[in-house]
Amino acid sequence: MDCFGTKHCLFLFVLINNVLLTLQTKEEVLLDMKSAGGELGWLQWPSEQGWEVLQTVVNGSMFYTYSVCNVVEGEQDNWLRTTFVQRRPAATRVFVELRFVVRDCNSFDGASLTCKETFNMYAAEADADVGTSFRKGQFRKVATVAPDEISVRGELKVNTETKVVESLSRKGFYLAFQDLGSCVALLSVRIYYKICPATVLGLASFPDTVAGAEGGALREVTGTCVANAISQEPPRIYCTLNGEWVVQVGQCRCKPGYEAANGSCQACQAGYFRASLTMEKCDLCPENTQRSPAGSQTCPCREGFYRAPEDPTSDGCSGLPSGPRKLLATVRAGKLRLSWLAPADTGGRDDVEYSVTCQQCEAAVCQPCGEELRFEPRPAPLREPHVTVSGLEAQLNYTFTVEARTGVSRYSSQRATSSITTALHLTETPAVTLIRLEKRSSSSLSLSWALSQRSGRAPRYELMYRKKDDGTASDITTYTVLVLEKNLVQISDLVPGTVYVFRVTVLNPDGTPSGNSVEHEFETTSLAEPQVSSNTPVVLGAILGGGAMLLVVGGILLLHKRRRGTHSRDGAEDAYFSGSADQMKPLKTYVDPHTYEDPNMAVQKFATEIHPSHVSKQKVIGAGEFGEVYRGMLKMPGRKETAVAIKTLKPGYTEKQRRDFLSEASIMGQFSHQNIIRLEGVVTKFKHAMIVTEYMENGALDKYLRDRDGELTSYQLVDMLRGIAAGMKYLSNMNYVHRDLAARNILVNSSLVCKVSDFGLSRILEDDAEGTYTTSGGKIPIRWTAPEAIAYRKFTSASDVWSFGIVMWEVMAYGERPYWDMSNHEVMKAINEAFRLPAPMDCPSAVYQLMLQCWLQERARRPRFADIVSLLEKLLKSPESLKTIADFDPRVSIRLPSTSGSDGSPFRSVVEWLESIKMSQYTENFTRAGVTTMEQVLQMKIEDIRNIGVRLPGHLKRIAYSILGLKDQTSTLSVFAV
Ligand code: AMP
Repeated sequence: MDCFGTKHCLFLFVLINNVLLTLQTKEEVLLDMKSAGGELGWLQWPSEQGWEVLQTVVNGSMFYTYSVCNVVEGEQDNWLRTTFVQRRPAATRVFVELRFVVRDCNSFDGASLTCKETFNMYAAEADADVGTSFRKGQFRKVATVAPDEISVRGELKVNTETKVVESLSRKGFYLAFQDLGSCVALLSVRIYYKICPATVLGLASFPDTVAGAEGGALREVTGTCVANAISQEPPRIYCTLNGEWVVQVGQCRCKPGYEAANGSCQACQAGYFRASLTMEKCDLCPENTQRSPAGSQTCPCREGFYRAPEDPTSDGCSGLPSGPRKLLATVRAGKLRLSWLAPADTGGRDDVEYSVTCQQCEAAVCQPCGEELRFEPRPAPLREPHVTVSGLEAQLNYTFTVEARTGVSRYSSQRATSSITTALHLTETPAVTLIRLEKRSSSSLSLSWALSQRSGRAPRYELMYRKKDDGTASDITTYTVLVLEKNLVQISDLVPGTVYVFRVTVLNPDGTPSGNSVEHEFETTSLAEPQVSSNTPVVLGAILGGGAMLLVVGGILLLHKRRRGTHSRDGAEDAYFSGSADQMKPLKTYVDPHTYEDPNMAVQKFATEIHPSHVSKQKVIGAGEFGEVYRGMLKMPGRKETAVAIKTLKPGYTEKQRRDFLSEASIMGQFSHQNIIRLEGVVTKFKHAMIVTEYMENGALDKYLRDRDGELTSYQLVDMLRGIAAGMKYLSNMNYVHRDLAARNILVNSSLVCKVSDFGLSRILEDDAEGTYTTSGGKIPIRWTAPEAIAYRKFTSASDVWSFGIVMWEVMAYGERPYWDMSNHEVMKAINEAFRLPAPMDCPSAVYQLMLQCWLQERARRPRFADIVSLLEKLLKSPESLKTIADFDPRVSIRLPSTSGSDGSPFRSVVEWLESIKMSQYTENFTRAGVTTMEQVLQMKIEDIRNIGVRLPGHLKRIAYSILGLKDQTSTLSVFAV
C-alpha cells in the first residue's frame, strides 16, 4: 500500500484545527476522531486486512487516521466501525463531517478493473454498546462518499464532506465506513449536532436548543421575560436547522418604574419615572412635580398643583386658574350679553370652562335669579367666553358671577370668579303723536309724523293703510303694511280722488308693534285738481329716498271689526261641537268663576283651604304673573308630606289682582285629570295668599326639551303629546277653552308625564311674553293661535286644536321656536297664504300629517281632541308606524331669521352672518377651521359644520338652514300649502 507522507498528515491537522475553532460556539460534538488523542478503538472488519490505523506524531502528540488501499487484490468489502456514540435525546439529527483523501485509480498500474474512487457510509442504532459484535445487516446506508478532487501521486487533495444522519431515536448509534476497493485515507470524522445557544433577546431569555425539528422544520422555543419585565403573551422564538434564532414573537417590556438597560430591567433613578410598560428609558420628572424616589412610576405633584383624573400620570401637574378678566355686560335687543376674557393664568391647561350664576340682591340679601332667565348657550359648562341672557326684567339689578374652572378646580375650594351687577334699562318706546300730510297728488300722498319723545335708538315704524270704504263693505279689511326707518314716506300708485286711512305705530326693539298708534285719513286729489303741497319741503323716504325703507312687507292682514271678547270660554256654542252627542254633553261643565257674584265664593267652592303652617317654602323656581313661584312641602294632618309648587301673591296687590290670582285656583280646582296640573289647595284666609299645586320636577316643557335636544326617542315624544292631548280632551269635554296652549305652559314631572297648566283668566293679556297686541285690540300669542282667533277672537276648542298642532311641532323640534325669527306679521301673512310650518327633522310622517290637520283653515275640519288622542294611542300601540319619517328639506324652510344682511345685501363677513343667526358663539370655530369668507361658508356641508365643533343638533340645523337659505335667496317661504 502507498503510504501518505507524514508531512501531509501534519498539514491536514492544522487545517482541521481551524475548523474546530469556528464551530465551537454553535455545535455540540459527540465524537471527534482527531481530538480523541489516543487509540480510537474502532472496529475493523475483517480484522486482518482492509482498514488500517496510522499513527502520526504532531508536536509530540499522537494522532490517528485510517486508510485502506487494496486496489489490485480483486473484490473488497472492508468495514471500519466507530465506537458507540451516545446521543442527547433532542439530537435526532446529527452531522458527520468527513475529511479524506482518495487516490486516482489511474495512478495504479493494472488496477483499473477493480479500483474504486468512492466509499460508503452506514449507520446502525442501538440502545447500548454491543462491543465487538458486528453485523453488517444491522446497518443502513447513509451515503456514498465521493471526493471532489482525486489525488495523484505527489499531490494530495483533501476533501471535506458533511453528511446528515436523520431520524435517530435510540440511545446511541454506530457509524461504519465500507470500502469496496478504493485507496482512501480517512483523516478526520467529526460527529456533532447544532444548537441555538442560550440567549437574551428583547428582555426575554431562551435556553440552549437543539437545532431543527422533525422533517427539517424550525423548532419553536418559549422563553421567559427577564426580572421586572412582563409580556402580554409568552415570548417565543424559532431555532433554525443551522442553529440560528429567528422571528421573535411576544415582546417583553419593563414594568412601570423600570427601564431597559443591557438586556435587563433596572429601576428608574431618583428624580426619574416611567408610567407604562416600556422598552424605553425613564423620563425626568415633569413640571410642577416633586423629585421621585428610585423605581417610581409617577412623580407626585408639588403642593398647590394637581392632576385631573383624565390627565395622564406622565404629564406634569397644573395650578388653579385665575378668574375671568374684563367681564362686560352689554344690552342688545332686550337681551344681555355677558362677555369676558380668559383667565390670565390658566394653570397651563387648555380645558378652561366657565359657569355663570345669577343672583338678585336687595339690602344685602341675595337669592338665586328665577328660572325665567334664559341663557344661550346654557350657563354651564361654557367653553366660549360669552353668554346671552334673556328673560330679564327691566330695571331690576342682577349680579352675574362667572367662574373659570379647569380639570383641577375640584381639588380646591378656592373659586376663580369675576362678578358684575347690571340692570336691563329698557327705554320706553316713544309713541306717534300726529300724522301730517306733506304733499299730495292724484296718485300719491306724502306723510310725516311726530314722536312723543326722543328715543335713544332710531325707532322703526309700521305704517298700515287702506282705502276708507274697504272697512265698511265687509267684515274683512285689507291693509297694506310698510315697515319704515324714517318718520316720513311717500305712498304712490294710489287711486285718484280716494280717501285712505293711515295708521302709524312705533315698533318695539323686537319688531312687535308698541300698541300706541295714531290713525288719520287723507285723500288723493282727483285727476282734475292741481297738486297740493305744504310749505315744508319733504325729504322723501321710502320710495323716493334711497335706503329709508327697511322692508316692505306688502302683507295682507285679515282684520275683523273689533269684537273685544270677554274672558268667558265660548267653546260650547261653537258649531265645532255639533258632531257627536257624546262630545256635546260633557259629564261635567266648567264654571267660569266670573259668573259668581263674589269670586271668593268660587274659590271656596272649588279649592281646599290650607293653613299656612302646613306649607313650607324652600326655593324660588319661577316667576308668575302675581309673584314668585316656590318649590316647597305640604304636610296636611294625617297625610304624607308631599313636594308642591307654591304660587304667591306679591305684597301691595289690589283686590282685583287678588281675585284674578285666585281665579286660577277656582278654575284648576274644577279639574281632576292625570294630565292637568292638580290643585292641592289655597291659602286665602291669611295675608299672604297662596296657590298650592303638585310639584313638577322637570319644569316647563319647552325648556325641558331645549335642554335635551335630540336625546329622546320619537316614541317618548309622541307619548308626551298623547298625555297633553288627553288633558286637552278632558278640558274640551268640560267646555273649557285654554287659549294659551303652548309648550311653555305644559309642565313635566319626573316620570316625563306632561300636564297642562296656566289657567289664569287674565294671563293671556298680561302674563305671557308671547302675547302681542293685535290690531283688533287684544293681546294674543300670535304664532300659537288659530287665524280665526287672531282675526275675530273666535276662541274655541278648535282653536285650541290649532295650538296643539303648534305644540306638536315644538315637541318634535325639541323646543324650537315656531316660525323661528319671522315677525308676527310675517307669520300671519304666511298662514293666510296657506303656508304651514315644515316637518321638523326626524318627525314621523303620521305625526306631521296630524299637525297639518290641526292647522286646517276651516276649523270644523280640524280633528277633535278625542280623535287626536285615539290616533296618538294607535301610533304608540304600533311603534313601527313611527318609523316612516316625514320629508325634511331644509331648503323648503320657512324664511330664515336672515338670509342676507339687514339691508338685503349679502353678508360681508362670517362674523356678521353668524351674529345675524345668533350663532356668534361659533365664530372661533369657523376661524380656527380657516372658514373666513362667505364663499367658503356656502361650500360647507352638514358634516363640515359638525366637524368644526358644532355638536348641538339645534345649532347644526340652524346653521345648515341658514346656509341653504343663503344659497337660495329667492325661495323665501315654504311650499307646505294645505
Ligand atoms: P306660571 O306662573 O304658572 O307660568 O309659573 C312660572 C314658572 O314656575 C313656570 O314656568 C315653571 O318653571 C314654574 N312652575 C310653576 N308651577 C310649577 C309646578 N307645579 N311645578 C314646577 N314648576 C312650576
